[in-house]
Amino acid sequence: MLSYRHAFHAGNHADVLKHFVQIQLHEYMNQKDTAYTYIDTHSGAGVYALDSGYASKNAEYETGIGPLWERKDLPKSLAAYVNLVKGLNPSGKMRYYPGSPYCADKMMREQDRLRLFELHPADSKILADNFRKVEEHAAAQGERPSGRGKRVLIERGDGFHGIKTLLPPPSRRALVLIDPPYEDKQDYRKVRDMLADSLARFPSGVFAVWYPVLQRMESRQFADKLKRLPCKEWINVTLTVTTPGPDGFGPLHSSGMFILNPPYTLEPTLREVMPYLVKVLGKDAGATFTIERGAQVTGTATARVG
Ligand code: SAM
Repeated sequence: MLSYRHAFHAGNHADVLKHFVQIQLHEYMNQKDTAYTYIDTHSGAGVYALDSGYASKNAEYETGIGPLWERKDLPKSLAAYVNLVKGLNPSGKMRYYPGSPYCADKMMREQDRLRLFELHPADSKILADNFRKVEEHAAAQGERPSGRGKRVLIERGDGFHGIKTLLPPPSRRALVLIDPPYEDKQDYRKVRDMLADSLARFPSGVFAVWYPVLQRMESRQFADKLKRLPCKEWINVTLTVTTPGPDGFGPLHSSGMFILNPPYTLEPTLREVMPYLVKVLGKDAGATFTIERGAQVTGTATARVG
């Protein structure tokens, strides 16, 4: 099903949670010099114009990056995310929002590799065009040599299948973002099956899954199914910005990030930042967060906060 266009939702509270966590994961991967591969199974268009077309229609960024833009009291790790977005808007006016491939490109080093899948013909073309511009700009600024060969590969194709060809990665280090639309309820099953297969191919990869928190059964059971996957540790974080209503009415109120093999640095950062996000993005008394973690080595030791 290819009706989904991420531009409608760019910069909303769910993007804030997803990209903030993504940047934390890159920061951790960057602590070692050894190269790593970033795999984006569902890349979207890469960059979104907030003041035109799709994104301006519902202005969902006003539930997310909008309220954070002028804040002077951002926790340091959240400021790293907001500053990355600001870097794409040198005029100071919030006009463009970076998707996950752009966040990755900004965070990653010369030696690292980006492997980006996008199935939608229009979005995969926009993604390729955006990356060409980003590369040309970086080369013109002297930030990187031009013609960087195979650092970034974009494939118009199905990320659920494409990932199989990439694991294990040559450097034995990988960060994978899995962010399908979930408009087709089969996506929940496909994510779980893909993770089971990927963990068998590469048990030590860091896998980050974004998902909507909805009333529908597939969504309610989703995190519990991921907890049963054979990985050493996991963290599940959710952000709810308003009291949930029935599915299908109004905008998304809640989403989660489920991270398999998370870095040890992630949980303390989440404990600091999630209450702040609830305070700034929360719309009513229903706004809240949860953090759960578990480890297979100790059975199912689960801690829940928030
Ligand atoms: N990860 C992006 C970001 O954070 O900026 C947003 C991705 S958006 C939520 C989901 C994208 O997956 C859409 O652009 C959609 O066209 C694409 N898509 C849907 N099914 C796909 C598949 N099987 N393989 C690759 N891309 C797919």
